[in-house]
Amino acid sequence: MPDTDPRTVTPRAPPTPFMAQYLALKARHPDALLFFRMGDFYELFFADAERAAQVLGITLTARGEHDGKPIPMAGVPYHAAEGYLARLIRSGERVAVCEQIESPAEAKKRGSKSIVQRGIVRVVTPGTLTEDALLPSRAGQALAAVVAGASPHDAAVALCDVSTGAFHVVACARDAIASVLAAWPVTEWLAGEDDAASDALRALAAMIDAPLTARPQRTVSAKTGDVLLKEAFGVADTGAFGKFTKSELGAVALLLDYVKLTQAGDAFRLEAPVRATPEDGLVIDPATRANLEIDRAMNGAREGSLIATIDRTLTAAGARLLSAHLAQPSRDPAEINARLDAVAYFAAAAPVLDAVRLALKAAPDAARAATRLRLRRGGPRDLAALSAALSAGERAAAELMRAPGGLPERLMRAARTLAMIDLTGLQMFGSDLKRALQADVPVLVRDGGFIAPGWDARLDEARALRDDSRRVLADLQARYVSETGLAALKIKYNAVLGYFIDLPAKAGDVLLRPEWRTRFQHRQTLAGNVRFTTDELNELAGRIARAEDEALALETALFEEFLQRTEALSQPLSQVSEALAVLDIAASHAVFAIETVSVRPVLADAPVFDARGLRHPVVEAALKRERLGFTANDLALDASGHTGARLCLVTGPNMAGKSTYLRQAAIAVILAQSGAFVPARSLTLGLADRLFSRVGASDDLARGRSTFMVEMVETAAILRQATPQSFVILDEVGRGTATWDGLAIAWAALEHLHDVNGGRAVFATHYHELTTLAETLTHARNASLRAKEWKGSLVFLHDVQPGAADRSYGVQVAALAGLPKKAVQRAAQILKQLEASPSSAEALPLFAAMPEAPVPERSELDDLLAGLDPDTMSPREALEWLYKLKTMSAQRG
Ligand code: ATP
Repeated sequence: MPDTDPRTVTPRAPPTPFMAQYLALKARHPDALLFFRMGDFYELFFADAERAAQVLGITLTARGEHDGKPIPMAGVPYHAAEGYLARLIRSGERVAVCEQIESPAEAKKRGSKSIVQRGIVRVVTPGTLTEDALLPSRAGQALAAVVAGASPHDAAVALCDVSTGAFHVVACARDAIASVLAAWPVTEWLAGEDDAASDALRALAAMIDAPLTARPQRTVSAKTGDVLLKEAFGVADTGAFGKFTKSELGAVALLLDYVKLTQAGDAFRLEAPVRATPEDGLVIDPATRANLEIDRAMNGAREGSLIATIDRTLTAAGARLLSAHLAQPSRDPAEINARLDAVAYFAAAAPVLDAVRLALKAAPDAARAATRLRLRRGGPRDLAALSAALSAGERAAAELMRAPGGLPERLMRAARTLAMIDLTGLQMFGSDLKRALQADVPVLVRDGGFIAPGWDARLDEARALRDDSRRVLADLQARYVSETGLAALKIKYNAVLGYFIDLPAKAGDVLLRPEWRTRFQHRQTLAGNVRFTTDELNELAGRIARAEDEALALETALFEEFLQRTEALSQPLSQVSEALAVLDIAASHAVFAIETVSVRPVLADAPVFDARGLRHPVVEAALKRERLGFTANDLALDASGHTGARLCLVTGPNMAGKSTYLRQAAIAVILAQSGAFVPARSLTLGLADRLFSRVGASDDLARGRSTFMVEMVETAAILRQATPQSFVILDEVGRGTATWDGLAIAWAALEHLHDVNGGRAVFATHYHELTTLAETLTHARNASLRAKEWKGSLVFLHDVQPGAADRSYGVQVAALAGLPKKAVQRAAQILKQLEASPSSAEALPLFAAMPEAPVPERSELDDLLAGLDPDTMSPREALEWLYKLKTMSAQRG
C-alpha cells in the first residue's frame, strides 16, 4: 500500500480542519474509495486518488500538504459522476459518496472559519445500485446474505433488489445454498466473517460469479434481524411474515444492516419479505443451469442462451420478470396454468396482442424510477418515467378491456390495476403528472424548466418576471446602441461578471471618453474587447437573478411535493410496474409462440413427459439463420411405468443430434414450468421437482477439478438427489476416463437411475454395450438417431427411432471433420481389428447380465443376537452376553 494512504500516516503536525474532516470520514469506510464532494466536483485523495487515476485515466494532481508531503488528489465532475462510478464498480471497487450536507452560507453562520459539514450519503457496491447508468436495465440485481446455519439443514439466504424493493427469504439446506444463489441474478453476496472463512462458504465462493463481502459476525444475529424487520416495516410484531427460523432472521439482519449502511440510513424501502424454500419451485443446480445455457451460453455471453432466444419483451421490468421466471420455474400447477392462460389469450388474439404491445413499447422502467425518487437520487426524468408508465398502462388496460371475449383472470387483474380502478390516489397522481410536466425534461432538478406553464400560478408569475426582464434587457441594448451610435454594442453574460456591456476594443474606446464615463463604468479590458456596466444594467441583472432564483425555488418545491406523493403511493406504483411486466411477459411468450409455432403444455398429475414433435429453440433458431430446417422428434417417458418406460437410452452416431435431443427435453420442462409455450406439436407434462443435466465435458481447472472429476461430481449429485418426480438428462457419462472404467460407471449410473432414483431420465451414450442393458431393465427402452451412408459420405437424418443404433460412425465423422485421409484409413483398419479381436466388447464379462451380489448366509450368531433385547437387560447381564458372544466368535474363527 502506498505510504500516502491515510490509514498508514501518523501526522506530525495536526491536520487542517478540512483534512481532519476528510480523515474522519475516510476512517469509517477504509475499504471504499471516498468521493469527497467539493463544489461541483467529487475529489479523491491519497491512495484513493492514485487508484481512481489509474482506473479512470484521470489526472493525478496534488493539493496542500499532509505530514510534510503533497497530498495526491484526483477529481471527477459531479454531473458526470455516474459514468465514472460505473467504471469503478465494474473494476471491483466500492465507492463511499460524501456530500456537503449544509450550504457554505450555513457554515459561515457558525463562524467565518467553519468548514462546510459533510456526510456519507451512500456506499456504492456491486449489489446496491439504483442508477440506470450503473445497472443493466434488462437484468435484475440481487444482493444476497448467506447464513450457513448451526446444522446442515438449517441454512438461509435473504435476498433483495435495492433498485426495485423486491425482498425474499429462503430457508434451505447448507448444500442447497449454491442452487438458491444460482437462481437469482446475484451481483454481491454477504456472509459473516466466521462463516466466510468456513470451508463450506469458501467452496461456494469459488462457484458464485459475484464478489463476497464479509461482514462483522455480530451483524448475523436473529435478534437484530427481528428488530430490523420491525423497523423496516413499521410493525410491532414480525408474525405477519410467518415464523422465521434463527438462520432466516440472521440472514435478514445481515442483509438489512448492510443495506442500511450502504444507503446511509432508513430511506430505502423494501417490499414485505416473500418467504420460500427451494422446493417450492423447480430446483435446478448451478451445473445444470450452466449446461442448459439458460441465461448465458457456454462462452458467458447472453447471445445464444435460451433467454436471448425466446425474449420478446418490450419493457425492462418485463425482461427482468422473464429472467426470474426462467431462473425459477414453478411447481404450482395453478400458477403455471394462470400464466399459460394469459399467453394463450394473446396467442389467439393477434389484434389485442399488437395493440397492447404498442402501448408497452412506451412504458419506461417505473419500478427503478420510483426507487430512485424515494431514495432522493431521482430527478425530473424519473417523474416523467412514472407519468409515461402510468399512461402506457392505461392505454394497455383500455385495449384489454375493449377486447371481445372474456379475459383470463391474470390479464383481468393486470388490466384493472393499470386502469387504476380502486387506486384513486394514483389516478390523480398520473393526471397531475401529465399536466405538470413539460414534454422534455432535464435530468437534474437544479436545471429547472421541467414544470409546464399553467400548473402553478406563482411559478408562472416568477417566470413572466424573468422572461420580461430578458425582454427589457434586449430593449436596453437597443437603446444603448442608438444612444451611443455603436452598433457593435452587446449585452452579454458570463459566470464571473454576470451581465455586462461588451464592445470591440476600438468601439470601446469611445465609451472611455469623459462624456460617457460616468454612465458606462469600465469593468474589464481584454485583448480585443472592453467591458462596461451601468447602474440600470446592475439593477436589471439583480431583478433577473431574483426572478430566476424564485422560479427555481418554486420548481424545487413542486418537485418535492411530487416526491412525497411518490413515496406515499409506492405500493400502488409497484403494483402498476408489476402489472406491466405481467402483460409484457405474456405477450412476449405469445409472440414467440406464434413465430415458432409453439404450443401450450398440458399439465398432468402423473409423472409423465409426452412430447410430440419437440424442437430445441436455440438450435432451431441457429439453423434458421443458415436457412436450414430442424427435425422435430418425439419423446415419451412415464416414471410411474403405466404408459411406458421411464428411462430412455439414446445411441447414435456422433453429430447425429443426441445432445440436442436430451437438452430439448430439459428445456421443454423449464419452459413449461415457467409458464411459456413449448416448441412442439404437443407436450403433456407431470411437473418435475428437480431438473438435472450432465451434458458434455468441461474442465474446471480454476477450481482444481479435471474433466473427469467435474463429470463425477455432477453425476454423484444427480444419483444422490434425483427423486421419482425428477427429470434427468445424462450425456455420455464416463467418457472422461479409460474405456472400461467409463463403461462400468455408465452402467452403474444407468442401473442406479432406473432402480433407485426412479424418475424420468434420458441417457445418451456411445457405449453400445449399454443398449443390451436397456433391453433387460423393465422401465428402460432404447432409442437411436439415424444416419445413412450415402455415396461414401454420411448423412445425418436427426430423427429418433425406437431401438438401438447399429454403430457409432465415429471414423466417418472424423473424416467429415477433415482428419487426414491416411489417418482415417488407419483408424478404419484398427477399428476392424478391434471389432474382430477376442477382447472386443461382447467378450467381456461386463456385458453379461450383472451378477447379483452374494447374500451372506445367516449364522447362529445372527439368530442369537436377534433374540436379545438390550432394553430389558441389566448392565451385568449385558456384560455376560458380551463375553459369551466373544467366545463364540473366537470358536467360529
Ligand atoms: P456427439 O456424439 O458428437 O456429441 P451429438 O449426437 O450429441 O454429437 P449434437 O451435438 O446434438 O450431436 O448435434 C450436432 C449438430 O447437429 C447440432 O449442432 C445441430 O446443428 C445438428 N442437429 C442436432 N439435432 C438436430 C435436429 N433435430 N434437426 C436438425 N439438426 C440437428
